Amino acid sequence: MSEQLNEADCSEALHRVFEYLDGEMEPADQGKIAAHLAHCVECLRQYDVDTMVKAMVKRSCAPEPAPARLRMMVVQSITSVEIRYTD
Ligand SMILES: [Zn+2]
Repeated sequence: MSEQLNEADCSEALHRVFEYLDGEMEPADQGKIAAHLAHCVECLRQYDVDTMVKAMVKRSCAPEPAPARLRMMVVQSITSVEIRYTD
């Protein structure tokens, strides 16, 4: 086990969940998020929600490749949750 691995904190993990899901990350960053999700229940729950949203978007076959509006709504809800938890 490497103690030197710098894990992502909650805000980084939550904001990068979509990148993580899309596989758009550097392998090192992907490892950080994976390590964080492995022990953080709140982020793992959000990861599950995002996975469902992604699956729904895919299934609906939206004409736009990037559902920016939906993404923005999810990011905003994440941000409000974050504020509540850090208070
Ligand atoms: Zn977390």
